[in-house]
Amino acid sequence: MSHTIAAVSTGNQISAIGIIRLTGDDCIAVAAKVFTLYNGKPLSKAPSRKLCLGELHDKDGRVIDQCMAVCSHAPHSYTGEDTVEFHCHGSPAVLAAGLEALYIAGAKPAKRGEFTKRAFLNGKLELTQAEAVIDLIEAETADAAANAAGQVGGVLQKKLSPIYDELTNLCSHFHAVLDYPDEDIEDFGLASYEKSLRAAAKSLYSLLQTYGQGRILRSGIAAAIVGKPNVGKSSLLNALAGYDRCIVTDIPGTTRDTVEETVMLGNHRLRLIDTAGIRDTADTVEAIGVERSKKAVEDADLVLFVCDGSKPLTDEDEAIIDLCCEHQNAVALINKSDLGSAVAPSDLPFMNVIHICAKTSEGLDQLADVLDVLFETQTPCDGSILTNTRQFDACRRAYEAMLRSLQGLKLGLTPDAVLTDVEEAMEAMGEVTGATVREDITARIFERFCVGK
Ligand code: GDP
Repeated sequence: MSHTIAAVSTGNQISAIGIIRLTGDDCIAVAAKVFTLYNGKPLSKAPSRKLCLGELHDKDGRVIDQCMAVCSHAPHSYTGEDTVEFHCHGSPAVLAAGLEALYIAGAKPAKRGEFTKRAFLNGKLELTQAEAVIDLIEAETADAAANAAGQVGGVLQKKLSPIYDELTNLCSHFHAVLDYPDEDIEDFGLASYEKSLRAAAKSLYSLLQTYGQGRILRSGIAAAIVGKPNVGKSSLLNALAGYDRCIVTDIPGTTRDTVEETVMLGNHRLRLIDTAGIRDTADTVEAIGVERSKKAVEDADLVLFVCDGSKPLTDEDEAIIDLCCEHQNAVALINKSDLGSAVAPSDLPFMNVIHICAKTSEGLDQLADVLDVLFETQTPCDGSILTNTRQFDACRRAYEAMLRSLQGLKLGLTPDAVLTDVEEAMEAMGEVTGATVREDITARIFERFCVGK
């Protein structure tokens, strides 16, 4: 018997409609204590998944709201249990009063993600689907939402299941032969084991390769803005952000730390990092900033090198160019185009060079076009992209164990030694699919959710 939980699912702001949600074996009986249908019938007789008009009231009969109730009977509901939703007027005060009345009627406050956790525990969602629900709620771009929606629909699970099944087959066959040597079981076919393990490892590797794209989908493109002091890095960040995020002065070295800001440029979400001017410095505070800038370039998905186009390049510029031009995705921005051009694109060893004016935002649309080329999505955003760090880590461990078992087969290790690695791979894959996931991990997964989901 699962106890009834209740929560507001629509957040705590004024809106046209606000939803209170209940789930649990006796939730319809709990809801009936505070809701009376206008058609005079008991709530337990309300048709499943149909909105019915009535009155939400407290235990003393004081009316809280005139609203709609919808009952979904187990197992045909999100959680797999009986559920009730009240579609109220979206005033936080109304919703709080409705919730309070439900608590008095016997419901308990829902914990974070408890509705989705119950859906998972009741077999309504696979773990990858449940995890994608939070990604869908938090998606900030259309591509991220499309990928998460695909995963809620089971696309990722469909990719993982055959790999998990293959490992299960191998394990069971190994066990059968090892544990029942007298039975007439087809003996080890080393070549066929190797073939199926290799195929499974290859599929998993293709999935792991999508994670770079997935990371960008989840967190945006990490873009480091680098250049010597006073070339207009902070002005560029402000122009991209659309407001003055950074202090802009003409005193070199005013940006002493890295400043982060997430902005949209065209279809791209950029996590901009304005680094302190990269230059050799005796000033300790600034020297720490310089180190961070170098690290930012190393960690960045995109490097935006900025120079002052109104003055010829200096040795200081050249040193920074050396630091960034080898980055896979580096773009040179010749700034201050309004002040004339002392720097030509041919002076810069970059494949992508754009004249910009951070003061007027001129040239930024061209930057958006370049990003379209550099970050063109390789894998369709239909759920096929691995975005979740936990899933990536488990898949990587599974992949490594599969490689070890392949190596073991090649070296002619004993079947039980090979089996250990196959089992380890299976265990790691099970953490992703939910087949072997530990309770503490499950708890942590659902803690990421908001209350009411
Ligand atoms: P940072 O030290 O590289 O971050 O440079 P800032 O953004 O602080 O800019 C340094 C100076 O250059 C400020 O006085 C800005 O107003 C000026 N500046 C930045 N971009 C432009 C531009 O496109 N045109 C002109 N004329 N001045 C600019």
